[in-house]
Amino acid sequence: MQIKTLKIEGYEEVIEGRDSTCGLHAYIAVHSTRKGPSLGGIRMASYTSPDQALEDVLRLAKAMTYKAAAFNMNLGGGKAVIIGNPEKDKRGCLFRAMGRMINQLDGRYYAAKDAGVVTEDLIEVAQETRFVTGLPALMGGSDDPSPATAMGIFYGMRACLREKFGSDSFKDIVVAIQGLGHVGFALASLLKAEKAQLIITDTNETLIKKAQEQFDAEVVSPDKIYSVSCDIFSPCALGGAINDTTINQLNCRIVAGGANNQLVVPEKHGKLLMEKDILYAPDYVLNAGGLMNIYVKDILKEKDVDRMLEKIETQLEAIFTKAKKSNLPPGQVANEMTDANLSQKV
Ligand code: NAD
Repeated sequence: MQIKTLKIEGYEEVIEGRDSTCGLHAYIAVHSTRKGPSLGGIRMASYTSPDQALEDVLRLAKAMTYKAAAFNMNLGGGKAVIIGNPEKDKRGCLFRAMGRMINQLDGRYYAAKDAGVVTEDLIEVAQETRFVTGLPALMGGSDDPSPATAMGIFYGMRACLREKFGSDSFKDIVVAIQGLGHVGFALASLLKAEKAQLIITDTNETLIKKAQEQFDAEVVSPDKIYSVSCDIFSPCALGGAINDTTINQLNCRIVAGGANNQLVVPEKHGKLLMEKDILYAPDYVLNAGGLMNIYVKDILKEKDVDRMLEKIETQLEAIFTKAKKSNLPPGQVANEMTDANLSQKV
């Protein structure tokens, strides 16, 4: 295993790892350990270049610092990315090499799963390192965090609906979901149970078919999801759903989804959404449920995560109230509130 340390301003530690035997090329970024060890998922994606992977890991790691701090969890922010196609390039050996790479940071980074990675992969990682969270309950872990992430988004959406429509009933609310993976599928299930109408898309045909059968949803192609007429557009695939092109296609009243880093240029796109009268639920606040699940069960060794998940709804309410009062985009208000938490003494 070759490990290279990269000096990146604003980050405590960033390493690049290569293991030619297993085909691993990965980055781990530790943004902050000020409030506790950094924690964040491992993402596997077909990046077009190492620079793109590095950019992704840096943004994701910083978002984890904010996600933990928004709810005063004693954790820092970190993330790992593996360059590779999750549908073709997976091997146990690859994830075991990732485990050895994680050991290089000696507990300053704790792994979990993110897009493109499943629990079986984490079990391979755990063969080599103890710095892994979200393992199966049978192995003493907190299990897949995705159902908790989906539940947190569902609670958060209630705050969005009240803010926009004065009622938090999902009946006949049209939700367009981009990405039917671990989070998107679980979210669709919760929304369907409350009689929402679903419009769905994914690049994976098998998932589309399964979701269509289960939810009686309208299916659109991945490029059409931005422009469908809906109440809530819910990005639950990878980051960057709201960019210079897609922002002009949106035909929704609310953007609220599970994906990390939804706004390509947060300041600019947050402002533009506000000008279009589209309510934006800041992503790291709305999707914090998975981290809460890990924090409560793996770190605090407690069981009841629901009480913490409900804080997503109240926190969003507070953000929207402040945003309205100050006429600022909710994303900016969320950052200011979280910065205040981060600057508190530890
Ligand atoms: P996943 O890999 O299980 O699902 C992602 C889905 O998006 C896949 O089904 C994939 O086929 C689909 N997809 C990819 N590109 C697409 C496109 N262009 N159009 C439509 N569909 C596309 O990942 P996940 O665990 O469900 O996570 C989804 C997002 O939520 C990620 O951004 C992740 O970082 C974020 N997130 C996840 C959790 C969690 O608990 N899993 C927690 C917080 C944030």
